Amino acid sequence: MRVNEIFYSLQGEGFLAGVPSVFTRLAGCPLRCKWCDTKYAWEQTSGQDYSIAQIVQTVQQWDCKFVVLTGGEPMINSDLPQLVQELKAADKHITIETAGIAFIPDLACDLMSISPKLSNSTPTDSELAAVHEDSRLDIAALRKLIDNYEYQLKFVVDSETDLSEIKQTLKEIGNVDLEKVMLMPQAATRYELLAKSPIVAEMCKQTGFAFSQRLQVLLWNNQKGR
Ligand code: SF4
Repeated sequence: MRVNEIFYSLQGEGFLAGVPSVFTRLAGCPLRCKWCDTKYAWEQTSGQDYSIAQIVQTVQQWDCKFVVLTGGEPMINSDLPQLVQELKAADKHITIETAGIAFIPDLACDLMSISPKLSNSTPTDSELAAVHEDSRLDIAALRKLIDNYEYQLKFVVDSETDLSEIKQTLKEIGNVDLEKVMLMPQAATRYELLAKSPIVAEMCKQTGFAFSQRLQVLLWNNQKGR
């Protein structure tokens, strides 16, 4: 598998924020979101080849139960099921971070952390925007993911105006457990996070959705590998 990086840190986002975790970042993502904070992992070639055994061995150098498989977009990797199986055999708690653009059945995944992409993520370049708009939202895939896995749904919020699109997306998916929905400020820097957090906090109070922290931004200003 093409691996961009493996590192030990704290889960920064979602209901497990603050939990020490080993991150395995797989290379490759077709979406090219405007505000993506891991652009260095976009290309399929952006990393080194690892066998599944090498990934598991590298992950096990830390005495840590929690493993996060992220990207890029891990759900487009055909070797993902075997990697998940091997990590589960090593008794790991596995979170998969995904944009929800693809469904794979029967993964031994403990938490499917889904971040459906809103129009606020559309790239400004027209060619990239066309690809992005074509694939950023797959309602059928989202539906199957939430039907088949323990999940959380994290929406990246750029401004209050995103709320109607979030509600519309939830309506289209249907039957979402609203207690599993989180709003997360769009922020690449500490300054941006602190500026937007109060706005998102008010949106959470208004809707009842949970606020998702971004500890990797707050603590390390989005530094790679932290
Ligand atoms: S889906 Fe995630 S990894 Fe892919 S471009 Fe968007 S933010 Fe970046």
